[in-house]
Amino acid sequence: MKISIIGTGRVGSSAAFALVNAAVADEIVLYDLNKEMAEGEALDLLHATTFHKRMIIRAGEYSDIEGSDIVIITAGAAQKPGETRLDLTIKNAKIIKGIAENIKKYAPNTLIINITNPVDVMSYVVWKVTGFESNRVIGTGTILDTARLRALIGKNCGVSPMSVHAYIIGEHGDSELAAWSSAMIGGVPIKGFCRNCPYKDKCNKDLSKIFEDVKNSAYTIISKKGATNYGIASATTALVESIIKNEGRVYTPSVLLDDIYIGYPAVINKDGVERTIDITLNDEETEKFESSKSIIKEYLESIKNLL
Ligand code: NAD
Repeated sequence: MKISIIGTGRVGSSAAFALVNAAVADEIVLYDLNKEMAEGEALDLLHATTFHKRMIIRAGEYSDIEGSDIVIITAGAAQKPGETRLDLTIKNAKIIKGIAENIKKYAPNTLIINITNPVDVMSYVVWKVTGFESNRVIGTGTILDTARLRALIGKNCGVSPMSVHAYIIGEHGDSELAAWSSAMIGGVPIKGFCRNCPYKDKCNKDLSKIFEDVKNSAYTIISKKGATNYGIASATTALVESIIKNEGRVYTPSVLLDDIYIGYPAVINKDGVERTIDITLNDEETEKFESSKSIIKEYLESIKNLL
């Protein structure tokens, strides 16, 4: 199993580390415009393999991604002070277009996981530029946001996040929404869970507060440490594991739906996105989801001359 990572900044290097710890790859290739940094990361990670699994880890050129089973994209420019999200979108779309052309050239049979933001728009760019089948181009979408929601509900309700089934869907951004009407804890609809709960007098029953905390997580973390990297690294590794082990786990990646890429529940197996799962949304949630789609469409409109 060969995995290549394009962009070895904070997210790319953390994803590589999480993949080494998960011992799922036989070879990891790191590519970054900053070659020295990619080489340093490769050397450091090689030493970590001693405790997990023998594997090849090396920095390389685009030609070294040849034969990859999975290529992970995390390369991109960060938002500069005073720069709008739209400016960043145009700048990153140009970067991602170049990367997608190289993936198409050197690794035409690979699956691609795109992390670079705005992830829904950039995943669409990758899909269009490579011309790959949409199941082979997966954005991380709202997998991280869903993980944050499950973690906060778990903390609030005194249960493991693994026993919480609740999704954030839509744009990985301000227009995302929590699909509360399908949320469950241990198989019990979340709104009825309090009846069984010994902590009900102490807990935060205002679910919208939990959602606001989820939505603002990235802003909060970035204001304190400059970037988010561990959550997305674990989310990416979970996605990779479901692909490599052909497990059919359900996550909320960014997938092709109504001719855009957007975060939605999907089954992930060896071929990438096997199918999406239609969850029940109430009228308010449906309206919010549609509005989230419109926002992604507006961003796509702004870069259509590049595609
Ligand atoms: P970073 O600045 O630390 O790293 C970006 C790397 O990309 C740098 O090392 C840079 O040299 C490299 N790069 C830039 N242009 C390149 C090119 N053309 N080819 C190869 N490498 C190139 O940034 P980061 O914190 O690692 O974040 C990376 C991306 O991941 C950002 O777009 C960020 O918003 C996104 N992100 C997404 C999620 C998510 O849930 N989807 C979560 C966290 C971060």
